Amino acid sequence: MSLTPLKSRNYLPVYFIPNYFSLSVKNCKRNTFITMRLFTESINTKKNPKTYSVLEQQLPSVFSSKCFNEQNLPFNEEVKNTEIGHLFEHILLEYLCYYKLLSGSDEAIFNGNTNWNWERDEFGTFHISIDSGKDNNQIFSQAIEKSVSLLLEILQKDPSVIN
Ligand SMILES: [Zn+2]
Repeated sequence: MSLTPLKSRNYLPVYFIPNYFSLSVKNCKRNTFITMRLFTESINTKKNPKTYSVLEQQLPSVFSSKCFNEQNLPFNEEVKNTEIGHLFEHILLEYLCYYKLLSGSDEAIFNGNTNWNWERDEFGTFHISIDSGKDNNQIFSQAIEKSVSLLLEILQKDPSVIN
């Protein structure tokens, strides 16, 4: 028998999708921190005009998620011209709510934040924090799997953006 100390389980597997993006995930007590690196030429949904229709088909509830942006645009407008990291944050929050409710909870509210600084980090790097902690590990794993697939589907709709 072997025991793995809890501390070494802080990191969930890293997602690496060649030509598209990678995610490293740090799961803390109350929050989860994700670093996304985009390898596509475009880092904004305005270069991925199919974003809206894919979401409409696969995850229409994401359009009613609250978004705090500089222009105060509702997310169904913001989504047409926003950074991919921010799009991924909203997709993940939506799937987290979905799986939380599916697991029997009466309500599900998750908050997130995406920031970037390409003077400090490599171009296309995003830092996403989500207020889902260790208690939600199970649903988080399900939600991130679905989010990775959906983002990939969106990015693959426009092959011209690949380096
Ligand atoms: Zn937002």
